[in-house]
Amino acid sequence: MQAYMMVNLRRGNGLEEYIPDKVIAEVRSRADIVELISEYLPLKKAGRNYRALCPFHPEKTPSFMVNSAKQVFHCFGCGIGGDIFGFVMKSENLSFPEAVRVLANKLGVPIPRRSISPSERRETDRKEELYKVNQMAMEYYHDLLFRREGTGAREYLRKRGIGQAVIEEHRLGYALDSWNGLVNHLLKKKVSLKVAGELGLVIAKKTGGWYDHFRGRIIFPIFDLAGKVLGFGGRALGENSTKYLNSPESALFNKGQSLYGLHVAKAFIREKGLALIVEGYMDLLTLHQFGFKHTVATLGTALTEGQIRLLKRFSEHFITCFDSDESGIAATIRALPLSLDAGISCNVVRLPGEHDPDSFLQGGHRDEFQEMLSRAIPIFDFFIDELLSKSDLGSADGKARAIDEILPMVARIQNRIVRESYVKKLSERLGLREEVILDTMRRPPRGEEKRREELKQVIQKKMFPKTEEAILQIMLHFSHLIPQIAEDGVLDDFENQKLKMIAKALKEIYFQKGALVISDILTSFEDGELRSKISEWAFLDGSFEEAFLEKTLRDCFRKIKMGKLKRDEEALLRRIREVEKEDRQDLLGELLVKRQHLLARERDLIEMYKR
Ligand SMILES: [Zn+2]
Repeated sequence: MQAYMMVNLRRGNGLEEYIPDKVIAEVRSRADIVELISEYLPLKKAGRNYRALCPFHPEKTPSFMVNSAKQVFHCFGCGIGGDIFGFVMKSENLSFPEAVRVLANKLGVPIPRRSISPSERRETDRKEELYKVNQMAMEYYHDLLFRREGTGAREYLRKRGIGQAVIEEHRLGYALDSWNGLVNHLLKKKVSLKVAGELGLVIAKKTGGWYDHFRGRIIFPIFDLAGKVLGFGGRALGENSTKYLNSPESALFNKGQSLYGLHVAKAFIREKGLALIVEGYMDLLTLHQFGFKHTVATLGTALTEGQIRLLKRFSEHFITCFDSDESGIAATIRALPLSLDAGISCNVVRLPGEHDPDSFLQGGHRDEFQEMLSRAIPIFDFFIDELLSKSDLGSADGKARAIDEILPMVARIQNRIVRESYVKKLSERLGLREEVILDTMRRPPRGEEKRREELKQVIQKKMFPKTEEAILQIMLHFSHLIPQIAEDGVLDDFENQKLKMIAKALKEIYFQKGALVISDILTSFEDGELRSKISEWAFLDGSFEEAFLEKTLRDCFRKIKMGKLKRDEEALLRRIREVEKEDRQDLLGELLVKRQHLLARERDLIEMYKR
C-alpha cells in the first residue's frame, strides 16, 4: 500500500492495535451514518441532507450536516467532518482502532485476533504491570488519607477549602512520613520493587534495599484519558523539604504529554467549548472546588506542544491563568508561538498583585474571577502589552527592537484578517504607518532569509489555492473525468503539496477500483485538516454545473499551469540575479536561454487556451 494510505493503523493508548481492512469495510457496509448519529443527537431532514446543532462546538443555528447517500458528516461552523469512524472517534475520544472496535461490536462484526510477536507481548505485559503497580500505589495513598495517619493531610485540605467530592474525584492521597511505608505495602502485596523503582515510586539504596520516594506528602495522582495512573505529584506537609515533587519520567509518565485533571475536566471542556489552563495542583483543585471544572493544570512546566495537541481533542479555545509573577508571565509568553502554530484561540487572564488562582478564589473573589474569564484578552495582545511596557518607545532604537521581536510572531498568525488587524494595532501603538510595518515584515531579518523562506512555505501550506481545490471537487463528484484530468498532467503543476497529494491519491484509487466512494477515501487520510476538507467538498456537489464542466476544467488547467510557469520564472529570475552578482558569465547565458524557453511556453499556453 502507498505511504499515504498507511493510515488505518493508528496508535491507541500506547498499545498498537491492528484491524484488518476487511473488518473496516464490513463495518462500513453494515452501518448507516444517519442512524448512528441519530443516537447521539436529533437530526432534522433538510433537503437531501440532515441537519443538527453541532455537538463539537457551541452554536445557536444548526450548521452540522449529515449526508446519507455519501455517508459523511460535516460541520460548516467548526469544520469538523468525516465518516462513521470519524464521528465515533470525535464523540467518544477514541483512537481509530478503538472506534472500529466499538462499531464492530455494535454491528456484530467479528474482529479476528492478530497473533502478536513474543517481543510485542512482553512489551504489552510490562506496561500492564507498570500500570498495575501505579494503580496499587494510588489506592494505598488514597486509603491512607482517611486513616488516623492521614489526619494532618485531611486537615490541610480542609483548610485549603478542598471538599470530599473533589478529593474523591481526583483520588487524592497521603504518603506516610516514613522511609518504607509503600515499600512494605508493596512487599506484602508481592510486587517487585524493581518495577516500582522503574516508576520512581521507590528508590534503590546504595547499601541494597529500597526506600519510599514520596514521604509526608499529599499525593496527587496523574491520570491519562482512560483513567489509568501515569504518575504522581506530591506536596510536602512539613516545611523541611522541597514543596512539590513529581514522579520522574518513566515508560508511562511523560510530563510534556500529560495534563493534571484532564480525565475529570474533559467532559466539561467539551461542554463549555473552552479549556482553562493553570499551573499548579492546588490551583486546579481549588478551581474544581469552585465549580470551574473545565480546568486542567500543566505539571509545573510551561505549556507544551504535546499538551496542546491533547487538549485540542476537546476544544480549540483556551484560557491560560498562570501566576502573576515574572515566571508566570514568561510561561504565558512561551505559549504564544505554540498556540499560533496550533491554530487555536488562546486568551489570558492576569490576576492582580501576587495572586495565583488558588489564593484569588480563596480570598473570596469567585464572581470577580468569573468576570475576568469573560474579559480575558487574546494572548497576542498580552504579549504586545508586556513587550511594549518594557520597551523604550521614545527612541527609534527602542521601537525598532520591539518591532523586531513582535513581527516574527505576527507573521506566524495563520488567519490573514487577524494578522492584518495586528499590523493595524501595532501601527497605532507605535505611531508608525502600516506600510512601514508591512515593509519590515516582508524584509528578511538580517542573515535569516532561509528561515523566512521556510516560514513563507509554512504559511503557504495553510492556504489552499481555489483552482486546485476546484479540480479536486470535480474529481470527487464527476469521477468519470479523472482519466481526462490525469492525462492532461495538470496534477504535477499543483502548487499546494497537500492538495497534490490528495489529487494523486484520488487518481490512484479511481484507477484501482474504477470508482470513488467518499467514505472510503476519508479513511485513507490521517491528516485531520485534509479529512475535514474532503467531508466539506462532499456537501458541495451543487457547486458545478454539468454543462459548464469542460469549460471550468479548462479554466482551471490554464490558471494552474500559468501559476506554475510564473513560479518557475520567479525562481529563474532569482537565480539569474545571483549569477549576475557572482559575475558567472558562463552560467548566465544558459539561464537566459532557459528564460526564453519559459516565455515561449507561456505564449503557447495563452494561445492554446484562447478559444
Ligand atoms: Zn461544529
